Amino acid sequence: MTYYSIKELHQLLITKKITPSQIVKEAFANLAKHQVLNATVTELTTAATALALELDQVPVSTNNYLFALPYFAKDNFATKGVKTTASSKILENFVPTYESTVTNILKQNNSILLGKSALDELGMGGHGLYALTGDVLNPWDLTRITGGSSSGSAALVAAGVVPFALGTDTGDSVRKPAGYCGIIGFKPTYGLISRYGVFPYAPSLDTVGYFTRTVEDSAIVFDYLAQEDHQDATSLKSKEQNYFKNLSSVVKNQKFAYLKNAHSALPAEIKTHFDSLYTQLTAQGGIKVTAIDFPEDLLKALLPVYMVISFAEAVSSHSMLDGINFGTRVDGDSYEAVMMNSRTAGFGHVVKRRYVIGSYALSKENQTLLFLKAKRVRQLIVDALTTVFKDYDILLLPTASTVAPKISDIKDQILTEAELENYVDDLLVLGNLMGNPSLTLPLAFVDNMPIGINVNAAPFADQKVFNASLLIEEIIGIKNRVAPEGGKNNG
Ligand code: GLN
Repeated sequence: MTYYSIKELHQLLITKKITPSQIVKEAFANLAKHQVLNATVTELTTAATALALELDQVPVSTNNYLFALPYFAKDNFATKGVKTTASSKILENFVPTYESTVTNILKQNNSILLGKSALDELGMGGHGLYALTGDVLNPWDLTRITGGSSSGSAALVAAGVVPFALGTDTGDSVRKPAGYCGIIGFKPTYGLISRYGVFPYAPSLDTVGYFTRTVEDSAIVFDYLAQEDHQDATSLKSKEQNYFKNLSSVVKNQKFAYLKNAHSALPAEIKTHFDSLYTQLTAQGGIKVTAIDFPEDLLKALLPVYMVISFAEAVSSHSMLDGINFGTRVDGDSYEAVMMNSRTAGFGHVVKRRYVIGSYALSKENQTLLFLKAKRVRQLIVDALTTVFKDYDILLLPTASTVAPKISDIKDQILTEAELENYVDDLLVLGNLMGNPSLTLPLAFVDNMPIGINVNAAPFADQKVFNASLLIEEIIGIKNRVAPEGGKNNG
């Protein structure tokens, strides 16, 4: 049942073939079978069941796709009265007195929150291995990572527990795990979805995003979530209001581009799937696919620029997590000692390392050389991308250079110089530096593991991203696919 898409589920509700209570019951039964994934922080079995019982009595509104939609929210969305930990020890017991705008929109439309999903602590990480609750496992192969930081949400959608889950994307945290888990991950134009009530990581890059298993569902949800919000100073009004209605795979007279240098760096078994898609896109007629050059030095700068800016912003936005303003307090002899002890006990090693680097980049003597320079290089990258979008409607990128890595490989990983120079795994950061819309969808299966393709357009051209993605989904033919229970090749 829960393998249905949002659209299918809605149809079943309208035709009374299913009730909200049945949806919730089956979703939790399914979740019970997937406990091994370790994807949740909080499961709201009682509350969700009670809400479903109430909704059983309410007539289904035919034009509300969110009605009785079961979903999980990444545990960095504040949920009033429900523990919100950001998968960090320092917020282990934090119960917000306010509700994020996004979860509130879902609540107003009678969606059913089943629980909160695990993330890399405070959104910092790309592996799904840095949550307080432990490693999140990839439903396609339990020995592999889901990617992060929205790891729990990605795993739950890929496993078929829910057709939709919320995430956040600062560097690639929705779009990378979507690729590793064989689902759709969408990060809209910066500002179009409110961030009120979402714990910040790096505010100039942070974006709410979400997972679905079909492109249609992604467009459906966006019509509800893209709302201007005066509680978020960076919120913007969407020009489009009917993303789903205007969704069409009839893409004509468009120019698609891909990066020549990144493409040739892909391993042969992955590259071949991109080549084949480009051939099929060209064969459509009306679409021209071109390999373009992008300054190599700017691509190599992606990771350092992202690290300096995001780590510096994180130190600043998390300064209130000190055991006094927010967070679990650990006693000490002085005000400073309380803060030091609380922060020492409250954060994991990845977060601490990032704060050290961020503070270093922000310190008076390094600021010009590091932080301000990173911001200048960011502008150069945005300028180069602006030129690309002047000439091309769509920019296609690989979501990663490999299928989801083995957990054991990541755990003992020490990167070599050459690996650090390989920017193919950092390309999705482009979408955050510029704030343009960016969607990952499945491209193929390699060794029984999914790989993704990432579709980008200029800021505010979110509709173009949906339409191109729908066309690619139709060409590829992978839609609403759920990982087999227990993983395919685990062991
Ligand atoms: N993987 C990136 C990181 O490690 C992205 C994180 C994010 O988007 N929240 O920071």
